[in-house]
Amino acid sequence: MNLKYLTIGAVVMLSACTDPKPEEESSEKTGGFDVSAIDSSASPCNDFFQFTAGSWIKYNPIPETESSWGRFSKLAEDNKIRIKGILEEYAAKEGQAKGSDGQLIGDFFYSGMDSLAVEELGTKAFDPYMERVDATTNMSELFALMAEYGYNNVSAPIGIGVQADLMNSSVNALYLEQGGLGMPDRDYYLKTDSVNKEIQAKYKKHLANLFVLYGMDEAAATDQANRIYNVEYKMAEQHMSRVEMRNIPALYNPMSLDEVKALAPNVDFDAYFNVYGLTFDEVIVTGPKYIKALNKLVKDIPFEDWKAYYRWHVLDAAVLYLPYEYGKLNFEFYSKTLSGTKKMQPRWKRIQGAIGGLNEQLGHLYVEKYFPEESKKQVEQMVEDLRSAYRVRIANLTWMSDTTKQKALEKLNAFTYKIGYPNKWKDYSDLEISRDSYFQNVLNMSKYLSEENLAKLGQPVDRDEWGMGAHIVNAYYNPLNNEVVFPAGILQPPFFDPNADDALNYGAIGGVIGHEFSHGFDDQGSNFDAQGNMTNWWTNGDKARFNALTSALSEQYSAYEVLPGVHVNGDLTLGENIADLGGLTLAYYAYKIHMDGKTPEANIDGFTPEQRIFLGWAQVWQKHGTDEYLRNQVTTDPHSPASFRVVGPMSNMPEYSEAWGCQDGDAMKKAEPIVIW
Ligand SMILES: [Zn+2]
Repeated sequence: MNLKYLTIGAVVMLSACTDPKPEEESSEKTGGFDVSAIDSSASPCNDFFQFTAGSWIKYNPIPETESSWGRFSKLAEDNKIRIKGILEEYAAKEGQAKGSDGQLIGDFFYSGMDSLAVEELGTKAFDPYMERVDATTNMSELFALMAEYGYNNVSAPIGIGVQADLMNSSVNALYLEQGGLGMPDRDYYLKTDSVNKEIQAKYKKHLANLFVLYGMDEAAATDQANRIYNVEYKMAEQHMSRVEMRNIPALYNPMSLDEVKALAPNVDFDAYFNVYGLTFDEVIVTGPKYIKALNKLVKDIPFEDWKAYYRWHVLDAAVLYLPYEYGKLNFEFYSKTLSGTKKMQPRWKRIQGAIGGLNEQLGHLYVEKYFPEESKKQVEQMVEDLRSAYRVRIANLTWMSDTTKQKALEKLNAFTYKIGYPNKWKDYSDLEISRDSYFQNVLNMSKYLSEENLAKLGQPVDRDEWGMGAHIVNAYYNPLNNEVVFPAGILQPPFFDPNADDALNYGAIGGVIGHEFSHGFDDQGSNFDAQGNMTNWWTNGDKARFNALTSALSEQYSAYEVLPGVHVNGDLTLGENIADLGGLTLAYYAYKIHMDGKTPEANIDGFTPEQRIFLGWAQVWQKHGTDEYLRNQVTTDPHSPASFRVVGPMSNMPEYSEAWGCQDGDAMKKAEPIVIW
């Protein structure tokens, strides 16, 4: 069950999960806006990103263990050091109550850090899994094995998972999705420019190297690699693109099992689903065309090639939990070649990265120690200010009819929010984690989470559940719950600083809150109503005007050049760009509402409160990345690169031009600004 492929209607995060991290302890002063970040030779009316981030970037090079670096990642890095402290504390405790949060995360971390035990075990625990692939004699057996290993997140051509039914968001439904590529996107296979050709060659080399390490001779390994690449290439040709997958209504294809089987008779769905033992009348197929195409591939591609393909994915799923050399090879391709990272992270960070399945438990221990309860009230007030500002904005829209406005306001009023941490914590006390074997712990954890997910099928949706650990530095909007969620981890500088002026905080965390609110009204979120159900609540005319505005925004971003010849994909990043533009606009007006009747805040460092709103947002996006990182980002990430998250929205805002005194013709003052929300 490849939950990682279950992207439909999934939560929309503030930023991609590009795990941040460097070595050194942070001692940087985080209060307010750090003026030393400014490049005074740049003009705010020409390039606000350069103005606000130029010096920061110059004096904060990308650490060798990273592919990008910014204020956001620096905070996440500081957080990792705190989390390390928690993990070490519990790893040092022996005899903790079995199944307690401390036992689970402590023993997991202990087993991962016990590198001698990992080396000594070698591939002994893993080998039987591979032997079972070798023992398969036909595609039916292989599909059954794909289902079984799906419990442990081994990537396969198809994957299933359970989440709220898009049309009836109070009940959980089963989804069937495409999957099974080893590189991050189909474009990596299909593009034929010189950079991508080189990546393709290195990928094949990576596959071969891994098989050699696993004991195969060079010639056989190269042969396997070529076969595997050929299988994945043919699958990539049939995969939906990321832009196609943004069209949520088109992904909603409920079918009976018989209908699915009729779509692809060569795929043994009985063998596949029997493993899970699920009872269902319907499964929602996100890409029927892909399933149909897979039918042909299953027949056309020789079984031995499919076997080689699956051997690779089984090995790939395990490499991070096997001896060091396996992880090193993985790093060489995925981090170095694809992202431009120079050095591997220290082991404790890699283990921390693997602990994701225990995020709830880790978050629990984190907030006990670090959550600033006093911040919660302040942020709640900001959420309501943002909502009030949105109400006024919607009421005053000139492009939307009263009929649709009514519905939009209904949705806005129904927004719920979660701040800090869950009201009730999950109980994982029957999860088996011990100090003995890291590999076994990872297997137990992934299976446990998969079973937890599948058990939800047909059950009512638990609206109290969190989709992110409380310690995580991020935020999200979940259209199916119509809720915005801000974990404790993000309520820290540069997002939220209890010691900073309100203008700065409204621009930063206020902008984030507005951003998440706006996801409820972006190209995807606008398909869902107040209850989180996918329904069309728009009149045709309003939808057409909305689409015209969003097309213009898409064009604006597609014109941004990231590297020579490499542009932002305006369609892929549309939802995030709508959210950035809406969010910052809302933050501006929420601040005005907040200050209404109060004594105006003083200028600080020579900047007016209005200017500081924009400085607050820009400070969050002080960030840079390697060329490889940027190339990967524009292909796979729905978020625009940091610089465009600053200049993109601001150049559309008359409020910005006014605050900074920009004139017609200035780059930061677009001649025809786009106003959506
Ligand atoms: Zn977002």
